[in-house]
Amino acid sequence: MEFAPQASIDHAALRHNLKLARQAAPSSRIWAVIKADGYGHGLLRVAEALHDADGFAVARLNEALALRQQGVVKPLLVLSACISRCDFDQAIEADIQVVVHHRDQLDALGAISSSDQRLTVWLKLDTGMHRLGFAPSELIEILDRLKGLAIVDEINLMSHLANGDEPQDPLTSAQCEQLLQFDPALFNARSMANSAGVLANPASHLDWNRPGIMLYGASPLLDTTAEQFGLQPVMTLSSRVIALKACRAGGRVSMDMLCVDARGLSDIQVGDEAVLWGRGLPVEEIARAAGTIAYELLCGIKQRVRFIDLNRQQLEV
Ligand SMILES: *Cc1c(COP(=O)(O)O)cnc(C)c1O
Repeated sequence: MEFAPQASIDHAALRHNLKLARQAAPSSRIWAVIKADGYGHGLLRVAEALHDADGFAVARLNEALALRQQGVVKPLLVLSACISRCDFDQAIEADIQVVVHHRDQLDALGAISSSDQRLTVWLKLDTGMHRLGFAPSELIEILDRLKGLAIVDEINLMSHLANGDEPQDPLTSAQCEQLLQFDPALFNARSMANSAGVLANPASHLDWNRPGIMLYGASPLLDTTAEQFGLQPVMTLSSRVIALKACRAGGRVSMDMLCVDARGLSDIQVGDEAVLWGRGLPVEEIARAAGTIAYELLCGIKQRVRFIDLNRQQLEV
């Protein structure tokens, strides 16, 4: 037996968590966010399991192109990095929707003449995250410029919650108000909620929601557990005990090995499975103990770990 770490990915849990996202906001459509290699679970694997989503959102154009190349026909949205003329040409060609958050993008889009295919854009409003997007005071001017571009087809409106993980933070409702002040008739569709919004902020449920972390079975809200929301962990990361030693206190974390204090575990043996997180050991609990967040732990899993698919559903594509 090889004692390699493995990540078993439960496709049924992905499907279940998607269903919960739908139940929490039944009148919204769902962009399943599968950026960062499906939050470390594997882009294509996750796209396959989440076939009931209405579309997939990724961070990079490359990820969206990879999905198209694999035959994914659903709507695709690139959340950030489409900037150059060349990016847009590829997006148009592959029927990928893009986010417009910066004036430079308007210049690049203006240089493309109309063709048979046109582009659906999501105009990004900065309502308080201050990462990407136009200020509310600029929005109508930018909207008018977009409407004047031959290549632009549908124009949608989106924003992103900054502190959604703390539902009591007044910024969340202030952000929603900023977006909702714009006449919905100006846009084809609107989108605000990430996982935290889906689970804790009904005011943020608009035409499309964008859940990410909850689909993987981790709670998006501070000081809560995924279990409270009925979410199921998707990844169980495990390895094997390769040695037991008695020594004085003071172990070390190494690159490929980890020393843990096994006192109190009387029946432990070499070869036993050691769960690092997943079933029975929420990733949030490990994240808290490690001073980080579940996103970082999950996205840090690389293909060096052996992936195993559980409860995979064979589909006719
Ligand atoms: C990552 C991301 C999401 C998903 O966020 P979660 O907290 O994982 O649900 C939604 N929208 C945008 C713009 C994102 O970048």
